[in-house]
Amino acid sequence: MFGVVGVTDAANFVALGLHALQHRGQEAGGIVSHDPEQGFNSARRFGYVRDNFTSQRLMETLPGPLAIGHVRYSTAGSKGAAIRDVQPFFGEFSMGGAAIAHNGNITNAEALRKELIERGSIFQSSSDSECIIHLMARSLQRNIPERMEDALRRVEGAFSVVAMTRTKLIGVRDPLGVRPLVLGKIGDGWALSSETCALDIIGAEFVREIEPGEMVVITENGGVESHHPFRPQPSKFCIFEHVYFSRPDSIIGGQSVYETRRQIGVELARENPIEADLICPVPDSGTPAAIGYAAESGIPFGLGITRNQYMGRTFIEPTEQIRNMGVRLKLNVNRALIKGKRVILVDDSVVRGTTSRKIKEMIIDAGAAEVHFRIASPPTAWPCFYGVDTPQREKLLAATMSEEEMTHHLGVNSLKFISLDGLYRAVGETSGRDQSCPQYCDACFSGEYPVEPADMLAKGFQMKAAQ
Ligand code: AMP
Repeated sequence: MFGVVGVTDAANFVALGLHALQHRGQEAGGIVSHDPEQGFNSARRFGYVRDNFTSQRLMETLPGPLAIGHVRYSTAGSKGAAIRDVQPFFGEFSMGGAAIAHNGNITNAEALRKELIERGSIFQSSSDSECIIHLMARSLQRNIPERMEDALRRVEGAFSVVAMTRTKLIGVRDPLGVRPLVLGKIGDGWALSSETCALDIIGAEFVREIEPGEMVVITENGGVESHHPFRPQPSKFCIFEHVYFSRPDSIIGGQSVYETRRQIGVELARENPIEADLICPVPDSGTPAAIGYAAESGIPFGLGITRNQYMGRTFIEPTEQIRNMGVRLKLNVNRALIKGKRVILVDDSVVRGTTSRKIKEMIIDAGAAEVHFRIASPPTAWPCFYGVDTPQREKLLAATMSEEEMTHHLGVNSLKFISLDGLYRAVGETSGRDQSCPQYCDACFSGEYPVEPADMLAKGFQMKAAQ
């Protein structure tokens, strides 16, 4: 999500911001702008930002000093083609219109939707995020930010929100602060962004993170007002943002994502050393950890796999068949470097194991003497219900197999994951994970969900038994 207030042609800045956030969602994008004379305008398109929001003709339809935008990656609602699911959503209220973009997953969305439909709401999309608009419509508060507070107090799960009225840019993070949101300054105006890398692209200065549970209401002349509408709770930022999701040139919690990933590699080498001739990253997500592993182990680093820069992320392709092809289309082995070597491959995560299996085959075909996998996250054994698209539990390799079985299944000489404590040390928690109150949301690794996933429990999802 990206939003700007107080600059001429805000939508152009939003398009650039979304382009820098494209790694967070590649299916579709949308922008809503407001101009005092021309009112609200919007455009929603499938595909990349660069293929849509660069057309002068389109951008001229989005005038005004206030705009927000969103890139979509479906974790709830329909997968694939449905333009009605593309955000921002828009609602017309008695006090004027509002547009809203949401990142994260609402864990009680289905229950809320059922209740709202029974009481007369007419939903336009299959997205969980639309509940927020309908809850706002039912609120009796007199202004839009207060209605939004009302609505968000009924919503459970993970939500970072960027919204706008005719005059205000609004940003909110859920009480646990699961998904990121940052504030930037651009000239006399302000920007809200999912990550700092998108502030850089428009030359905005990073001011601070929006705090967990905080709502900021920003006006062109009035600056930034801060509200705290929720009961305070210990924060639970998504640890997978550090591992994979965020861009390495972003800053999270005052820490460089690149540096954290490099440190994960250092911890991984300390925990799981092995003799080898070459450390090779699985590009691009494994690269910083591989650099750290090489530095700590002293084994030479080399780019044994080349990524075609013009492909999307394979995992995001919706069907298994396309995903299977995708790895080969996207990655190729540098035979000259690999031949005869004992290779350590460093990747960020193993989800279904499809990628790792294909890569191992390519490395063996290229004549490697041995293949060892080192993974920069603990085994992904539980699905995420807070905004990262993971398959059902049964499809997660680590949910059904032990480390030894996975090693055998992938057909590699060895396979090792960083420990959860090692990962916590790498993100700066020097004494590791606090077992009684983990400092992050690590449900995908631990099975400990900080917010009960109500809709999933209603569908029969089995939580980990209390120990
Ligand atoms: P898999 O073949 O299912 O094991 O895919 C694992 C690879 O997909 C990892 O190496 C990551 O680079 C990438 N990945 C992991 N989680 C996600 C996600 N939620 N969305 C997109 N890509 C992911």
